[in-house]
Amino acid sequence: MNIREELIKEYNSLKPEIIQTIKESVAYPSILDTSEANANTSHPFGVEIEKCLDHMLDTCKKLGFKTFKDPKGYYGYAEIGEGKEMMGILGHLDVVPVADIDQWDNDPFTLIEKDGNLIARGTSDDKGPTIVALYAAKALMNVGCTFNKRIRFIFGTDEESLWRCIFRYCEIEEIPSIGFTPDSKFPVIYAEKGLWQVILTAKGEDITISSSGAFNSVPASIDYTDIKQDELIASLKKNNFDYELIDKGVRILGKAAHAQDTEKGINPIQRLAHCLKEIGIISPTVDFITSKFALSPFAEPIFGLLKDDVSGELKCNLARIDVNKDHSKLYLDLRMPVTFEMDEIISKFNKVAKNSGFEAKQHDKLNSLYVSKDSPLVKTLCDIYGEETDFDTTPLSMGGATYSRAMKNFVTYGMVFPDSPKTAHLANEHITINDVDRAFIIYGRAIHKLSQ
Ligand SMILES: [Zn+2]
Repeated sequence: MNIREELIKEYNSLKPEIIQTIKESVAYPSILDTSEANANTSHPFGVEIEKCLDHMLDTCKKLGFKTFKDPKGYYGYAEIGEGKEMMGILGHLDVVPVADIDQWDNDPFTLIEKDGNLIARGTSDDKGPTIVALYAAKALMNVGCTFNKRIRFIFGTDEESLWRCIFRYCEIEEIPSIGFTPDSKFPVIYAEKGLWQVILTAKGEDITISSSGAFNSVPASIDYTDIKQDELIASLKKNNFDYELIDKGVRILGKAAHAQDTEKGINPIQRLAHCLKEIGIISPTVDFITSKFALSPFAEPIFGLLKDDVSGELKCNLARIDVNKDHSKLYLDLRMPVTFEMDEIISKFNKVAKNSGFEAKQHDKLNSLYVSKDSPLVKTLCDIYGEETDFDTTPLSMGGATYSRAMKNFVTYGMVFPDSPKTAHLANEHITINDVDRAFIIYGRAIHKLSQ
């Protein structure tokens, strides 16, 4: 049997149903809603998310899958095939809120088909790709393919927030031995750095230094309003550090950047600490920053230059500082190269902090994603993609956080092509019907190959 030709034939008859199912699914505004009334119900993340999950499982049942819904409502799955081993496809049914309704041309939760596009919240992230992969598996069933592995579609419901769905799944369910997540771009994302966010706390000091900002971005500036401002200005000048005068103080200027690219930014907190140290300010926190981070975006005084060929340097973002009489707090975001043990890096960091009087409290941790470029999984998926398109098939490593890192031996696979619109999380989110056409064949062939 020529799988490719069979898939193309099946696609022509399934296409209207695929679009219809996307239309039904995006009609649920499945936005996280953890209001108290939802706690300890079968819809912990909101009524609409449960409805959307129920709709997906009903659809799968009609297509001939066996289905299961977590009684607590965190996830569901649909399975076909026989065999001891299992391959998985991991997608999610929750969507991000519509913060910019003015910028939408139509209701975000009504599918609009226009100029070859399917427009609605969730078409790209991630209902559309999940449904395309689902129907590709259905096509394989229709043509009588035998699968030597079970094929399980896992539907998460909290991907856009805290991943509680998939963490609960991994705790209590069978983990597929291999699989992919259709929740980003082609060809294959095989490596993503581990992420660790931490808050360090020590006792208060006489000086006041305070900034605001999120863990994941290098701050653009910090205002200083405490003692020795004239000397600080002289030191800033001497070091060629940008600043401006503000009411009652000095604004040290840095350059904002994403925490995965700390070296593309300039950290104003580190610059401020450097100058305060230079002018003789007595502060254990300033000493800690200058001795352990200096002006490095990679925390080199602690780790040396920790890097690997796959994913680059360890990135360390000193995101925020809050020193006053009551306490001293530092907020940090670290991105760790994939071939190093995260826990070893963390314990080294914690020891360094402790020796300087800081107590470390973890805020968030996401394991790294790493499946070797030379693995059969990555090779198979890249080869199929290369046979179906003219695009570059070099697998990608990036510092984001796609869903596949929740499971070992999973990679991210589409369904954004290099020439596709990138509209996830944006107003008028959409996919093109051309992308559905292309991805259907790719996913069908991939599921066929991985289930052998
Ligand atoms: Zn997503």
